[in-house]
Amino acid sequence: MTLSKTQLEAVAFYDQHYQVIFDSSLNEGRPVKLSDPEDEKGRICRFCGLGKPEVTFKNVAHAVPEFLANKSLVSMNECDTCNEFLAHKYEDDLAKWFGPMRSVSQMKGKKGVPTYKNENVRIGMGSKGLEIGIVTEDLESHLKFDGPFTFTMPVATPSQPFVPINAAKALIKTACSLCPPELLNECKPAIDWLMERALANMSMFPVLFAFTPGPMPYGDGKVLLLKRKSHDEYPFIWCIIATANYRFQFFVPFCPSDAWMMKGKSAQLNMHHFPDVFGDKWPHGKTCFGNFDWSGKEPIVKEQSFSFHVESIKKNEIPPASNSK
Ligand SMILES: [Zn+2]
Repeated sequence: MTLSKTQLEAVAFYDQHYQVIFDSSLNEGRPVKLSDPEDEKGRICRFCGLGKPEVTFKNVAHAVPEFLANKSLVSMNECDTCNEFLAHKYEDDLAKWFGPMRSVSQMKGKKGVPTYKNENVRIGMGSKGLEIGIVTEDLESHLKFDGPFTFTMPVATPSQPFVPINAAKALIKTACSLCPPELLNECKPAIDWLMERALANMSMFPVLFAFTPGPMPYGDGKVLLLKRKSHDEYPFIWCIIATANYRFQFFVPFCPSDAWMMKGKSAQLNMHHFPDVFGDKWPHGKTCFGNFDWSGKEPIVKEQSFSFHVESIKKNEIPPASNSK
């Protein structure tokens, strides 16, 4: 693979400043139970600090949301009460951000691949695979019957309204669940904020994003945690989650080792995306990178359009409606 200058710079940057402290597939073929050392009470919840009998641990607490294709990573240190609170409060907004793409990328949640619909479009799994129904006057003008073509959705497919900071909190919660026990202290202020024990207003929360086209570029999905090894003013813990066609990169806010950030220094956050693995060898098209600011507290709708590569299509003749007069 030939790396571009930007990619080479990113590789050098991360080699110099970071070490990988957690690296896992989202489907290891078996449950991977992440657990903290137990105290005399046994398991302790990372989020409320309680253990049995004050709280229960009956639910399977996914360390990465299940709808992001996490089949393996389970947290043993998230009680049922916190599990329900965090899922309802934050994960729903992250799920809504995906809009129709959860259906298009066939990202299964608890209840399978969700169906997306509005008055003009329905996208969902049928008996033979993904089915897309579109109501539009001039559909044929968007189709080519004599060979491969790119089909761009001719109707609007907005997301449901979602609150950006809540979607960001769902990501941050994931990093707090995956964090090795010896670094948990660094996540404590973020956990207090997630649990609403501490208030914080962010003027910006960057989420570095990448989209790679094509079928399942990340395979079973992947998650990484990086810890800063230098004393330079970069975020102490980055987390990278890659699944289906998407990659999110974000840092854990308020780490004690990020005291520099509290002094209003944010210029350094304008930094490299973690090196991507596709380069110019990926046959389905270029990876697009973006930087979101997910600090907003008001619900917003994500407008998006998307395209498919279509090899060939077949026209079904629909018999004319019978005249039943
Ligand atoms: Zn708890």
